[in-house]
Amino acid sequence: MLGPLDWLLGLFSLDIGIDLGTANTLVSVRNKGIVINEPSWVAIEKKTRRPLAIGAEARQMVGRTPSHIIAIRPLRDGVISEFEITEAMLRYFIRKAHEQMFVPIPRPRVVVGIPSGVTEVEKRAVFDATMSAGAREAMLIEEPIAAAIGAGLPIMETRGSMIVDIGGGTTEVAVFSMGGIVISRSIRVAGDEMDEDIIQYMRTKYNLLIGERMAEQVKIEIGSAYPLPEEKTMTLRGRNLVSGLPQAVEVSSIEIREALSNSVNIIVSTVKDALDETPPELVADLMETGICMAGGGSQLKGLVERVAEETNIRAWLAEEPMTCVARGAGRVLEDYDNLRVLLAGLERGSTQH
Ligand code: ADP
Ligand code: MG
Repeated sequence: MLGPLDWLLGLFSLDIGIDLGTANTLVSVRNKGIVINEPSWVAIEKKTRRPLAIGAEARQMVGRTPSHIIAIRPLRDGVISEFEITEAMLRYFIRKAHEQMFVPIPRPRVVVGIPSGVTEVEKRAVFDATMSAGAREAMLIEEPIAAAIGAGLPIMETRGSMIVDIGGGTTEVAVFSMGGIVISRSIRVAGDEMDEDIIQYMRTKYNLLIGERMAEQVKIEIGSAYPLPEEKTMTLRGRNLVSGLPQAVEVSSIEIREALSNSVNIIVSTVKDALDETPPELVADLMETGICMAGGGSQLKGLVERVAEETNIRAWLAEEPMTCVARGAGRVLEDYDNLRVLLAGLERGSTQH
Protein backbone atom coordinates (compact mmCIF):
# COMPACT_ATOMS: atom_id res chain seq x y z
CA MET A 1 0.00 0.00 0.00
CA LEU A 2 1.32 3.40 -0.97
CA GLY A 3 0.71 5.97 1.72
CA PRO A 4 0.84 9.75 1.17
CA LEU A 5 4.36 9.80 2.57
CA ASP A 6 5.54 7.26 0.00
CA TRP A 7 3.94 9.33 -2.71
CA LEU A 8 5.66 12.49 -1.55
CA LEU A 9 9.01 10.76 -1.20
CA GLY A 10 8.56 9.31 -4.67
CA LEU A 11 8.36 12.80 -6.17
CA PHE A 12 11.78 13.78 -4.92
CA SER A 13 13.48 10.47 -4.56
CA LEU A 14 16.46 9.08 -6.26
CA ASP A 15 15.82 5.90 -8.23
CA ILE A 16 18.91 3.92 -8.96
CA GLY A 17 19.72 0.72 -10.79
CA ILE A 18 22.81 -1.25 -9.83
CA ASP A 19 24.70 -3.85 -11.78
CA LEU A 20 26.62 -5.70 -9.12
CA GLY A 21 28.95 -7.40 -11.58
CA THR A 22 31.72 -9.86 -10.84
CA ALA A 23 34.18 -7.53 -12.59
CA ASN A 24 32.52 -4.08 -12.64
CA THR A 25 29.82 -2.34 -10.65
CA LEU A 26 27.73 0.24 -12.45
CA VAL A 27 25.08 2.56 -11.10
CA SER A 28 22.50 4.31 -13.22
CA VAL A 29 20.29 7.13 -12.01
CA ARG A 30 16.98 8.17 -13.50
CA ASN A 31 17.40 11.02 -15.97
CA LYS A 32 21.17 10.97 -15.58
CA GLY A 33 22.30 7.65 -17.00
CA ILE A 34 25.39 5.86 -15.71
CA VAL A 35 26.91 7.83 -12.82
CA ILE A 36 29.30 5.21 -11.46
CA ASN A 37 31.37 2.62 -13.30
CA GLU A 38 34.10 1.07 -11.19
CA PRO A 39 35.78 -2.29 -10.80
CA SER A 40 34.18 -4.56 -8.15
CA TRP A 41 37.30 -4.65 -6.01
CA VAL A 42 37.72 -4.12 -2.29
CA ALA A 43 41.05 -3.81 -0.48
CA ILE A 44 40.81 -5.13 3.06
CA GLU A 45 43.03 -5.36 6.08
CA LYS A 46 43.89 -9.03 6.34
CA LYS A 47 43.49 -9.49 10.08
CA THR A 48 40.32 -7.50 10.75
CA ARG A 49 38.84 -7.84 7.22
CA ARG A 50 38.05 -4.13 7.46
CA PRO A 51 37.63 -2.50 4.01
CA LEU A 52 40.32 0.10 3.31
CA ALA A 53 39.59 1.04 -0.28
CA ILE A 54 36.80 0.28 -2.72
CA GLY A 55 36.37 0.33 -6.49
CA ALA A 56 38.97 1.93 -8.74
CA GLU A 57 41.18 2.82 -5.80
CA ALA A 58 41.23 -0.80 -4.59
CA ARG A 59 41.95 -2.10 -8.08
CA GLN A 60 44.98 0.16 -8.28
CA MET A 61 46.39 -1.73 -5.33
CA VAL A 62 46.10 -5.18 -6.89
CA GLY A 63 49.43 -6.94 -6.95
CA ARG A 64 51.06 -4.07 -5.09
CA THR A 65 49.69 -4.41 -1.57
CA PRO A 66 51.90 -4.84 1.48
CA SER A 67 51.40 -8.16 3.23
CA HIS A 68 48.79 -7.00 5.75
CA ILE A 69 46.42 -5.76 3.02
CA ILE A 70 44.68 -7.89 0.39
CA ALA A 71 42.65 -6.83 -2.61
CA ILE A 72 39.66 -9.05 -3.39
CA ARG A 73 36.70 -9.28 -5.71
CA PRO A 74 33.83 -10.28 -3.43
CA LEU A 75 31.58 -11.32 -6.33
CA ARG A 76 34.19 -13.05 -8.41
CA ASP A 77 32.30 -16.30 -8.74
CA GLY A 78 28.94 -14.67 -9.20
CA VAL A 79 27.84 -15.35 -5.64
CA ILE A 80 28.13 -13.38 -2.49
CA SER A 81 30.89 -15.14 -0.65
CA GLU A 82 31.77 -12.29 1.64
CA PHE A 83 28.62 -10.65 2.84
CA GLU A 84 30.14 -7.85 4.87
CA ILE A 85 32.54 -6.84 2.16
CA THR A 86 29.81 -6.86 -0.46
CA GLU A 87 27.73 -4.71 1.83
CA ALA A 88 30.59 -2.24 2.28
CA MET A 89 30.96 -2.06 -1.48
CA LEU A 90 27.25 -1.48 -2.05
CA ARG A 91 27.17 1.15 0.68
CA TYR A 92 30.09 2.97 -0.92
CA PHE A 93 28.50 3.01 -4.38
CA ILE A 94 25.01 3.93 -3.17
CA ARG A 95 26.40 6.73 -1.03
CA LYS A 96 28.55 7.98 -3.88
CA ALA A 97 25.55 8.11 -6.24
CA HIS A 98 23.53 9.82 -3.55
CA GLU A 99 26.23 12.41 -2.87
CA GLN A 100 26.38 13.35 -6.54
CA MET A 101 22.93 14.90 -6.14
CA PHE A 102 23.42 18.44 -5.03
CA VAL A 103 20.18 18.83 -3.16
CA PRO A 104 19.34 16.90 0.00
CA ILE A 105 16.97 14.15 -1.05
CA PRO A 106 15.57 11.09 0.67
CA ARG A 107 17.45 7.84 0.57
CA PRO A 108 17.14 6.09 -2.80
CA ARG A 109 14.97 3.30 -4.12
CA VAL A 110 17.34 0.72 -5.50
CA VAL A 111 16.99 -2.09 -8.03
CA VAL A 112 19.90 -4.53 -8.02
CA GLY A 113 20.64 -7.01 -10.78
CA ILE A 114 21.50 -10.46 -9.41
CA PRO A 115 22.83 -13.44 -11.38
CA SER A 116 20.06 -15.84 -12.38
CA GLY A 117 20.13 -19.05 -10.42
CA VAL A 118 21.27 -17.55 -7.14
CA THR A 119 19.71 -19.21 -4.11
CA GLU A 120 17.07 -17.65 -1.89
CA VAL A 121 19.72 -17.24 0.78
CA GLU A 122 21.96 -15.30 -1.58
CA LYS A 123 19.03 -13.16 -2.72
CA ARG A 124 18.27 -12.38 0.87
CA ALA A 125 21.92 -11.45 1.41
CA VAL A 126 21.94 -8.97 -1.48
CA PHE A 127 18.63 -7.57 -0.36
CA ASP A 128 19.80 -7.12 3.22
CA ALA A 129 23.10 -5.65 2.07
CA THR A 130 21.24 -3.13 -0.11
CA MET A 131 18.91 -2.12 2.71
CA SER A 132 21.64 -1.80 5.25
CA ALA A 133 23.75 0.07 2.71
CA GLY A 134 21.21 2.87 2.88
CA ALA A 135 18.40 2.12 0.41
CA ARG A 136 14.92 3.29 1.33
CA GLU A 137 13.49 0.46 -0.69
CA ALA A 138 15.29 -2.45 -2.36
CA MET A 139 14.22 -4.62 -5.25
CA LEU A 140 16.03 -7.39 -7.07
CA ILE A 141 15.97 -8.33 -10.72
CA GLU A 142 17.64 -11.22 -12.49
CA GLU A 143 20.59 -9.96 -14.50
CA PRO A 144 19.64 -11.47 -17.86
CA ILE A 145 16.27 -9.71 -17.62
CA ALA A 146 17.91 -6.40 -16.76
CA ALA A 147 20.43 -6.90 -19.58
CA ALA A 148 17.64 -7.61 -22.05
CA ILE A 149 15.69 -4.50 -21.01
CA GLY A 150 18.86 -2.41 -21.20
CA ALA A 151 19.57 -3.80 -24.67
CA GLY A 152 16.06 -2.91 -25.77
CA LEU A 153 14.82 -6.46 -26.41
CA PRO A 154 11.04 -6.89 -26.67
CA ILE A 155 10.86 -9.28 -23.72
CA MET A 156 7.27 -8.43 -22.76
CA GLU A 157 6.06 -9.57 -26.18
CA THR A 158 4.83 -13.04 -27.05
CA ARG A 159 7.57 -13.64 -29.58
CA GLY A 160 10.82 -14.98 -28.21
CA SER A 161 14.07 -13.14 -27.76
CA MET A 162 17.48 -14.18 -26.46
CA ILE A 163 20.36 -12.64 -24.56
CA VAL A 164 23.90 -13.90 -24.01
CA ASP A 165 25.67 -11.90 -21.28
CA ILE A 166 29.37 -12.68 -20.93
CA GLY A 167 30.87 -10.98 -17.88
CA GLY A 168 34.02 -11.55 -15.87
CA GLY A 169 32.97 -14.49 -13.71
CA THR A 170 29.86 -15.82 -15.39
CA THR A 171 28.17 -16.23 -18.74
CA GLU A 172 24.40 -16.08 -18.65
CA VAL A 173 22.19 -17.22 -21.49
CA ALA A 174 18.44 -16.66 -21.45
CA VAL A 175 15.49 -17.01 -23.79
CA PHE A 176 12.47 -14.80 -23.02
CA SER A 177 8.86 -14.75 -23.93
CA MET A 178 5.96 -12.80 -22.43
CA GLY A 179 8.08 -11.14 -19.79
CA GLY A 180 9.47 -14.36 -18.41
CA ILE A 181 12.59 -16.48 -18.78
CA VAL A 182 11.73 -19.65 -20.70
CA ILE A 183 15.20 -21.20 -20.75
CA SER A 184 18.31 -20.11 -18.93
CA ARG A 185 21.88 -21.24 -18.48
CA SER A 186 24.54 -19.83 -16.23
CA ILE A 187 28.14 -21.03 -16.34
CA ARG A 188 31.32 -19.98 -14.59
CA VAL A 189 33.23 -19.56 -17.81
CA ALA A 190 33.62 -15.97 -19.00
CA GLY A 191 36.25 -13.22 -19.22
CA ASP A 192 38.29 -14.28 -16.15
CA GLU A 193 38.62 -17.82 -17.45
CA MET A 194 39.88 -16.46 -20.77
CA ASP A 195 42.58 -14.49 -18.91
CA GLU A 196 43.48 -17.66 -17.04
CA ASP A 197 43.71 -19.57 -20.37
CA ILE A 198 46.26 -17.04 -21.63
CA ILE A 199 48.32 -17.27 -18.44
CA GLN A 200 48.36 -21.08 -18.72
CA TYR A 201 49.26 -21.00 -22.39
CA MET A 202 52.21 -18.67 -21.86
CA ARG A 203 53.42 -20.76 -18.96
CA THR A 204 53.22 -24.04 -20.86
CA LYS A 205 54.52 -22.88 -24.21
CA TYR A 206 57.10 -20.27 -23.23
CA ASN A 207 57.78 -20.86 -19.52
CA LEU A 208 56.67 -17.27 -19.11
CA LEU A 209 54.75 -16.20 -16.04
CA ILE A 210 52.52 -13.21 -16.76
CA GLY A 211 50.13 -11.32 -14.47
CA GLU A 212 46.34 -11.16 -14.70
CA ARG A 213 46.35 -7.61 -15.96
CA MET A 214 48.76 -8.40 -18.75
CA ALA A 215 46.65 -11.43 -19.70
CA GLU A 216 43.50 -9.31 -19.85
CA GLN A 217 45.26 -6.71 -21.95
CA VAL A 218 46.39 -9.34 -24.48
CA LYS A 219 42.87 -10.75 -24.65
CA ILE A 220 41.38 -7.33 -25.34
CA GLU A 221 44.02 -6.25 -27.84
CA ILE A 222 44.64 -9.36 -29.93
CA GLY A 223 42.34 -12.08 -28.55
CA SER A 224 39.71 -13.50 -30.89
CA ALA A 225 37.19 -16.26 -31.43
CA TYR A 226 37.37 -16.24 -35.21
CA PRO A 227 40.19 -15.68 -37.72
CA LEU A 228 40.96 -11.97 -37.96
CA PRO A 229 41.05 -10.13 -41.31
CA GLU A 230 44.61 -9.27 -40.38
CA GLU A 231 46.37 -11.32 -37.71
CA LYS A 232 48.38 -9.31 -35.18
CA THR A 233 51.25 -9.73 -32.77
CA MET A 234 51.99 -8.35 -29.34
CA THR A 235 54.92 -8.40 -26.96
CA LEU A 236 54.20 -9.83 -23.50
CA ARG A 237 56.38 -9.19 -20.51
CA GLY A 238 56.73 -11.51 -17.59
CA ARG A 239 59.17 -13.65 -15.69
CA ASN A 240 60.87 -16.67 -17.15
CA LEU A 241 60.07 -19.60 -14.87
CA VAL A 242 63.34 -21.37 -15.59
CA SER A 243 65.84 -18.53 -15.35
CA GLY A 244 63.75 -16.43 -12.95
CA LEU A 245 64.61 -13.36 -15.02
CA PRO A 246 62.33 -10.84 -16.72
CA GLN A 247 61.60 -11.73 -20.33
CA ALA A 248 59.65 -10.36 -23.30
CA VAL A 249 57.99 -12.74 -25.75
CA GLU A 250 56.21 -11.88 -28.97
CA VAL A 251 52.98 -13.81 -29.56
CA SER A 252 50.54 -13.81 -32.45
CA SER A 253 46.76 -13.47 -32.41
CA ILE A 254 46.65 -17.01 -33.86
CA GLU A 255 48.33 -18.36 -30.74
CA ILE A 256 46.05 -16.39 -28.44
CA ARG A 257 43.01 -17.67 -30.33
CA GLU A 258 44.26 -21.19 -29.72
CA ALA A 259 44.74 -20.35 -26.03
CA LEU A 260 41.17 -19.05 -25.77
CA SER A 261 39.56 -21.79 -27.82
CA ASN A 262 38.56 -23.96 -24.89
CA SER A 263 36.63 -21.23 -23.08
CA VAL A 264 35.15 -19.94 -26.31
CA ASN A 265 33.97 -23.45 -27.23
CA ILE A 266 32.32 -23.89 -23.84
CA ILE A 267 30.48 -20.58 -24.19
CA VAL A 268 29.35 -21.36 -27.74
CA SER A 269 28.10 -24.81 -26.78
CA THR A 270 26.18 -23.37 -23.85
CA VAL A 271 24.34 -21.12 -26.29
CA LYS A 272 23.66 -24.13 -28.53
CA ASP A 273 22.42 -26.21 -25.58
CA ALA A 274 19.99 -23.47 -24.60
CA LEU A 275 18.72 -23.34 -28.19
CA ASP A 276 18.34 -27.12 -28.23
CA GLU A 277 15.98 -26.88 -25.30
CA THR A 278 14.03 -23.94 -26.61
CA PRO A 279 10.54 -24.84 -27.89
CA PRO A 280 10.41 -24.83 -31.72
CA GLU A 281 7.96 -21.93 -31.96
CA LEU A 282 10.37 -19.75 -30.06
CA VAL A 283 13.34 -20.94 -32.11
CA ALA A 284 11.42 -19.82 -35.17
CA ASP A 285 10.99 -16.40 -33.52
CA LEU A 286 14.69 -16.24 -32.69
CA MET A 287 15.55 -16.76 -36.33
CA GLU A 288 13.94 -13.35 -36.84
CA THR A 289 14.78 -11.52 -33.63
CA GLY A 290 18.32 -12.93 -33.43
CA ILE A 291 20.68 -13.38 -30.48
CA CYS A 292 21.68 -10.26 -28.60
CA MET A 293 25.08 -10.32 -26.92
CA ALA A 294 26.00 -8.16 -23.94
CA GLY A 295 28.63 -7.91 -21.20
CA GLY A 296 32.32 -7.09 -21.56
CA GLY A 297 33.30 -10.59 -22.70
CA SER A 298 31.01 -10.40 -25.74
CA GLN A 299 33.39 -7.79 -27.13
CA LEU A 300 36.03 -10.44 -27.75
CA LYS A 301 36.87 -10.06 -31.43
CA GLY A 302 34.96 -12.44 -33.67
CA LEU A 303 32.79 -13.91 -30.90
CA VAL A 304 29.55 -12.53 -32.27
CA GLU A 305 30.41 -13.91 -35.74
CA ARG A 306 31.33 -17.24 -34.21
CA VAL A 307 28.01 -17.54 -32.34
CA ALA A 308 26.09 -16.57 -35.47
CA GLU A 309 27.91 -19.13 -37.58
CA GLU A 310 27.54 -22.00 -35.13
CA THR A 311 23.89 -21.41 -34.31
CA ASN A 312 22.81 -20.37 -37.77
CA ILE A 313 20.99 -17.43 -36.17
CA ARG A 314 21.85 -13.77 -36.60
CA ALA A 315 23.77 -12.44 -33.61
CA TRP A 316 24.66 -8.89 -32.71
CA LEU A 317 26.41 -6.92 -30.02
CA ALA A 318 24.12 -4.74 -27.89
CA GLU A 319 24.76 -1.03 -27.94
CA GLU A 320 27.05 -0.23 -25.00
CA PRO A 321 27.23 -3.91 -24.03
CA MET A 322 28.84 -3.24 -20.65
CA THR A 323 26.11 -0.95 -19.33
CA CYS A 324 22.99 -2.94 -20.31
CA VAL A 325 22.33 -4.42 -16.86
CA ALA A 326 22.60 -1.10 -15.00
CA ARG A 327 20.49 0.73 -17.56
CA GLY A 328 17.93 -2.08 -17.57
CA ALA A 329 17.70 -2.12 -13.77
CA GLY A 330 17.20 1.66 -13.80
CA ARG A 331 14.47 1.35 -16.43
CA VAL A 332 12.40 -0.91 -14.18
CA LEU A 333 11.86 1.95 -11.74
CA GLU A 334 11.12 4.44 -14.50
CA ASP A 335 8.46 2.18 -15.90
CA TYR A 336 7.54 0.53 -12.64
CA ASP A 337 3.87 -0.06 -13.38
CA ASN A 338 4.57 -1.98 -16.58
CA LEU A 339 7.72 -3.77 -15.55
CA ARG A 340 7.22 -4.66 -11.88
CA VAL A 341 6.30 -8.24 -12.80
CA LEU A 342 9.94 -8.75 -13.75
CA LEU A 343 11.26 -8.20 -10.25
CA ALA A 344 12.52 -11.30 -8.48
CA GLY A 345 10.85 -11.85 -5.10
CA LEU A 346 11.62 -9.79 -2.01
CA GLU A 347 10.47 -6.75 -3.91
CA ARG A 348 9.42 -3.52 -2.26
CA GLY A 349 11.01 -4.35 1.02
CA SER A 350 11.19 -1.06 2.80
CA THR A 351 12.45 0.32 6.06
CA GLN A 352 9.12 1.97 6.71
CA HIS A 353 7.25 -1.30 7.12
P1 ADP B 1 30.64 -8.42 -14.94
O1 ADP B 1 29.24 -8.17 -15.36
O2 ADP B 1 30.88 -9.82 -14.51
O3 ADP B 1 31.12 -7.41 -13.94
P2 ADP B 1 31.52 -7.11 -17.37
O4 ADP B 1 30.31 -7.20 -18.22
O5 ADP B 1 31.85 -5.80 -16.77
O6 ADP B 1 31.54 -8.24 -16.23
O7 ADP B 1 32.75 -7.62 -18.27
C1 ADP B 1 34.02 -7.76 -17.75
C2 ADP B 1 34.81 -8.71 -18.61
O8 ADP B 1 34.82 -8.28 -19.98
C3 ADP B 1 36.27 -8.80 -18.19
O9 ADP B 1 36.68 -10.17 -18.16
C4 ADP B 1 37.00 -8.05 -19.31
O10 ADP B 1 38.32 -8.52 -19.50
C5 ADP B 1 36.13 -8.37 -20.49
N1 ADP B 1 36.28 -7.43 -21.61
C6 ADP B 1 36.11 -6.09 -21.59
N2 ADP B 1 36.37 -5.56 -22.80
C7 ADP B 1 36.70 -6.59 -23.62
C8 ADP B 1 37.10 -6.71 -24.99
N3 ADP B 1 37.17 -5.64 -25.79
N4 ADP B 1 37.39 -7.94 -25.47
C9 ADP B 1 37.31 -9.02 -24.68
N5 ADP B 1 36.95 -9.00 -23.39
C10 ADP B 1 36.66 -7.80 -22.85
MG1 MG C 1 27.40 -8.48 -15.80
